[in-house]
Amino acid sequence: MSRIIVTGGAGFIGSNLCERLVNDGNDVICLDNFFTGSKDNIRHLIGNSRFELVRHDVTKEFYAEADQIYNLACPASPPSYQYNPIKTIKTSVMGTINMLGLAKRCKARILQASTSEIYGDPKIHPQTEDYWGNVNPIGIRSCYDEGKRCAETLMMDYHRQNNVDIRIVRIFNTYGPKMDKNDGRVVSNFIVQALQNQDITIYGDGSQTRSFCYIDDLVEALIRMQNNKEGFIGPVNLGNPSERSILEFAERIIKLTNSNSKIIHKPLPSDDPTRRRPNISLAKEKLKWEPKIDIDEGLKRTIEYFDNLLKNENNKE
Ligand code: NAD
Ligand code: UDP
Repeated sequence: MSRIIVTGGAGFIGSNLCERLVNDGNDVICLDNFFTGSKDNIRHLIGNSRFELVRHDVTKEFYAEADQIYNLACPASPPSYQYNPIKTIKTSVMGTINMLGLAKRCKARILQASTSEIYGDPKIHPQTEDYWGNVNPIGIRSCYDEGKRCAETLMMDYHRQNNVDIRIVRIFNTYGPKMDKNDGRVVSNFIVQALQNQDITIYGDGSQTRSFCYIDDLVEALIRMQNNKEGFIGPVNLGNPSERSILEFAERIIKLTNSNSKIIHKPLPSDDPTRRRPNISLAKEKLKWEPKIDIDEGLKRTIEYFDNLLKNENNKE
């Protein structure tokens, strides 16, 4: 049993992680300011003596005792992180400093949720951890990308200067139950549009690629990384290397939902990466981990989740 802080614990990845950590017998403190997260995601854990929910903004200091920290707080979908870009970069920079300070004081191990976005619009493909990236420092995605790059720098400097026990994971597109249906990411948008027989909105021509990892696979990898006995092994890519175009992805969702939706095209947002696929050799070697859930199975479970959510909402009206 460990005392574990999960920042951003009411969000998509955080709530799935909190559930797993509580079920594994740990004491979990979930910190969240509910910007993109929701109490609904963790409602079933409230009342469990192993789970504490604290409304807290990580840009402010936080004092508690802990053995481990998972630093996940940060809006992750482009529309949410661009809604208040200054707050987004403050969350990554000040939030990470505050959590590193806590880790240093408690001698806790801290895992930072970094992202494939630190590679920007990558010039090498698939992306390996030694690639430094191709990131626009002044664009509309920079508040997120550069915030996350700075968070990695802070982790490294606290490690070198103060000996803090750190872990850095670079998460590639992840999907599954508890994603916010309105947060504008491609998986939730397409599934909700398909279930409601609305037009499927492809940005650009749909030739851009992404590699989608199912949430249960990612949670397993986060826990393996945090508990890896080797100490700091450098940043590690976590994702599913199975890459597909956004157009192919839309067609797959239409088929799996038996939808009558039509595909329409909207303008491609600026700096939208043209391709993205993780090289996960390091995770395979060091964590003995690779994704197990294929895209059709993962999408089936996610479609079922959104279908129930929409039906419940309709019943309430
Ligand atoms: P999410 O938006 O669902 O969750 C983020 C959570 O952080 C929310 O609960 C939100 O309310 C909370 N939060 C935001 N700002 C905060 C603040 N200042 N103080 C306290 N809480 C705050 O996103 P997610 O998909 O669950 O992503 C979780 C983490 O994983 C993020 O750091 C994200 O950058 C990273 N990540 C996610 C993906 C993905 O595909 N889902 C990919 C790469 C990296
Ligand atoms: N996208 C799309 N239609 C949508 C939402 C997103 O075509 O309704 C595209 C988006 O332009 C990007 C890809 O899908 O090329 C993945 O977008 P998402 O916002 O999920 O994540 P990210 O761009 O951060 O990988």
